Amino acid sequence: MSGRSDGAKIIAVSIYFPTRATDKHCVYCGVELKKSPRRDSPTIEHFNNDGPFDKLFNIDMCCWGCNSSKGVKNLLEWLDSPYFKRKGISQRTVAEVVREYLRTAATLAISKNSELGV
Ligand SMILES: [Zn+2]
Repeated sequence: MSGRSDGAKIIAVSIYFPTRATDKHCVYCGVELKKSPRRDSPTIEHFNNDGPFDKLFNIDMCCWGCNSSKGVKNLLEWLDSPYFKRKGISQRTVAEVVREYLRTAATLAISKNSELGV
């Protein structure tokens, strides 16, 4: 990913999610987002890689280091990965927006299951 497209994404987030873009900390590790070093540069994060990509609850900003570690992993599985353990991060220490997403995802999963009669 080029620096230029990162910049365009940040602008897009600033336009659509002004309150979030002003919070310049990674939602996972809490590092201050800045241009360098690269691992601390801001990237757009979709909590669920399968989308929705235009819903506020599924998008926020995290550092390049966290985003590249997560890749296409499932969020819950990733939160349990060695990367997080090494950094001393857990589901309890991530930003409120992530915890909110996890609650939303759990609720959606439950309602989906009840629709299916599981
Ligand atoms: Zn981070």
